[in-house]
Amino acid sequence: MRFAPSPTGMLHLGSARTALFNWLFARHHGGVAVLRIEDTDRARSSREFEAAQIRDLDWLGLRFDEGPVRQSERGELYAAAARRLLEEGKAYRRSGLAVYLRPGTREGFFRDRLRGEVGFSGVEDFVLMKSDGTPTYNFAAVVDDLEMGITHVIRGEEHLSNTARQVLVYRALGGKPPEFIHLGVILGPDGRKLSKRHGARSVAEYRREGYLPEAIVSYLALLGWSHPEGREEFGSLEELAREWDPARLGASPAVFDPDRLRWTNAR
Ligand code: GLU
Repeated sequence: MRFAPSPTGMLHLGSARTALFNWLFARHHGGVAVLRIEDTDRARSSREFEAAQIRDLDWLGLRFDEGPVRQSERGELYAAAARRLLEEGKAYRRSGLAVYLRPGTREGFFRDRLRGEVGFSGVEDFVLMKSDGTPTYNFAAVVDDLEMGITHVIRGEEHLSNTARQVLVYRALGGKPPEFIHLGVILGPDGRKLSKRHGARSVAEYRREGYLPEAIVSYLALLGWSHPEGREEFGSLEELAREWDPARLGASPAVFDPDRLRWTNAR
C-alpha cells in the first residue's frame, strides 16, 4: 500500500481522502503503508510543499510505516529499468534522448476492484524517460511499485487512463500489476469537479480555522465509503479504523457539501 503525493501544492481534500483510504486499507489488512513523494517534476515540486503535506497528514493522524521515499533520489533505479527495456528491444529512443515504450500489446485492460474489467485498447507508444533524463509519472510509479512490492494501489479515478498504460509497463518489466482500486471522483454540489469555488479548502486552511482533525477524517471517510449502519461520525481515527471495511467502498462520485463539514465532531 502506498500513498504517493506530488509535492506541487498544499494537501487538498482529494489527496487527503486518498491518503486516508490507503492508510485504512493497510490497517484493515495488517499491511504496510508507504509514503512516496513523487517529486520528479523538479520545476513544480518543492521541499516546502513536501514538508507541509507531511505535517497535514500527521495532523490528521495518518502516519506511514515507511518513507518518505523521494523519487528524486532514485534516479538510478529508473535509468537502469529504462536501459534494460532498451536492451531487450521493448523501448526505443526518439526526439533526442527521450525513451519510449514499445508495448508488446496495445490492450491496456486491468481489473479494478470497484469497477471490474476496465481500460482501453489502442494504447500508443508513450514516454518513459524524458530527454532531460527524468522519468515520467507512469514509468517511475511502476518501477517503484514493483521495487517496493506494492500489492494494492488506491487512487482517484482520474488515473484510470494512466493505469491502462501502466499495466503495459508492468508487463514489459516482467512484473505482476497490483490490485487497483480507483476511487470515485469528488464533485461539488453543482455536479462539477470539486474545487475552491465550492468552498473546499486545503487541509492546512481547515487546521488554521480550528477544525478538529477527527471532523475532517470523519467527513473524508464518507466520500466513497459508508458505514453498514449509516454512522457518520467517528471519535477518532482508531475508532474509524476498527469500523472500516473495504467491502463498503463504492465507485460512484461523492458529493462534497461544505455545510456538512463541521468544526467539531459531535459525539
Ligand atoms: N503523484 C500522483 C498524484 O498525486 C500519484 C498517483 C498514484 O497514486 O499513482 O496523483
